[in-house]
Amino acid sequence: MSQQSIISSVMKILDSIPSDILLVAASKTRTPEEVQAAISAGIKVIGYNYVQEAERMHQVIGNQVKWHMIGHLQRNKVKKAVKLFDMIETIDSVKLAQIVDEQCALNKKKMTVLIEINSGKESNKTGILPEDVDELILKIIDLPNLVVQGLMTMGPRFGNPEDARPYFKATKKAFDRLKNLDIPNVNIKYLSMGMSNSYKIAIEEGANIIRIGTKLFGERQCNF
Ligand SMILES: *Cc1c(COP(=O)(O)O)cnc(C)c1O
Repeated sequence: MSQQSIISSVMKILDSIPSDILLVAASKTRTPEEVQAAISAGIKVIGYNYVQEAERMHQVIGNQVKWHMIGHLQRNKVKKAVKLFDMIETIDSVKLAQIVDEQCALNKKKMTVLIEINSGKESNKTGILPEDVDELILKIIDLPNLVVQGLMTMGPRFGNPEDARPYFKATKKAFDRLKNLDIPNVNIKYLSMGMSNSYKIAIEEGANIIRIGTKLFGERQCNF
């Protein structure tokens, strides 16, 4: 899409959502010009799935926005990821949390993290089951450099947006349960769910972070 159309689609979505909902521009495959256009229209957070792609874009865009890791984080990429990102939305194991914590210590940095929920169960390969999230959080709360602030889920990307609703409901249920646990020093406040085809339903189901690519930038050349 042209920079002008990106600017208008960003503004349209920002206008249509409540102001307390954070719009993350899922920017995989986009050019620096496209990402810059989205920023000029009001995007404050850029999301990437791959550390290397984020790193390249960061060299151009820098810290005029916040950076969220929204893809599965490989352990051998944690070192770079910790330097680059302001939030990692995809923690899904104790081991990964420990490695992130260690790298944070080396960088004298605290990292805000979300736990990725596999709400689709068999259809998603990453994330942990909603019923296992309490146990994971209790195991990582003592890591001094992690700040656990909520949950993220993918849910189905294609098909009827209504089909995503049960996945969002399941994730919201885990989110509410965790909030009610009142774990000391843990402030569960972010619920990241919803993409281009499902963000309206995600907001209805309680999302306060939505991650949108296609609806801001147009179709991707290759779909991943
Ligand atoms: C690509 C991606 C999105 C955005 O998907 P669209 O359908 O292009 O809006 C959101 N979240 C994650 C984790 C993604 O990889």
